Amino acid sequence: MKNLKNALLLKHLYQLREFGYRYTSLTPFKEDEPDLSLPNTLEKLEKQSLECHLCDLSKSRTHVVFGEGNPQAELMFVGEAPGATEDSMGRPFVGRSGELLTKMIEGVFHLKREEVYIANIVKCRPPNNRVPTPTEAHTCQAYILKQIELIKPKLIITLGTTAYHYLSGDDTPISKARGVMLKEKGAMLMPTYHPSYLLRNPSAKKEVYLDLLKAEKYLRS
Ligand code: URA
Repeated sequence: MKNLKNALLLKHLYQLREFGYRYTSLTPFKEDEPDLSLPNTLEKLEKQSLECHLCDLSKSRTHVVFGEGNPQAELMFVGEAPGATEDSMGRPFVGRSGELLTKMIEGVFHLKREEVYIANIVKCRPPNNRVPTPTEAHTCQAYILKQIELIKPKLIITLGTTAYHYLSGDDTPISKARGVMLKEKGAMLMPTYHPSYLLRNPSAKKEVYLDLLKAEKYLRS
């Protein structure tokens, strides 16, 4: 079979040469080429992520935190990476920042937590809750991009600098970028502060409230 394919390929190359081609990007037939495309359902994508060992965070994690919520959500929240509680439970935003996020969802959007989708840029906890390195974030980015592609939210609220940076490619500090919606990944993106920042700086809650009100108005439009 392999010989036949190679013979056909060679014939094709000779024909191209007859036509004057000096270069072709055709690659020789290879058996057992790995399929590098990501699955097209959230369930299969999650299953794949649970077995992921593409970066060193996989060595120290307890659980992969894939994300959770309504697979058809119009509203999606994206954070940075799981913390200790999330790592131990395998669920996003279930610690103190998660409590605050849940209050925002219920209080401003009048939605239940299960009605939105919540995920992170990085699916495994960075040791000591450090910021994910660019290599870790870029390695993991394929998962969040595929989640967005499959869920097709109308609006994505990025929580904090890391989520904003890796979804928009923009390096503007979150203090400047927040509150201004932009179109990205086929959805509108609303950058705002991370709930953990609000726990340390409660005075910034007012700004987040204004950002969320703007987001809610867009969601209803
Ligand atoms: N912080 C995040 O960015 N994500 C979580 O899931 C929890 C805390």
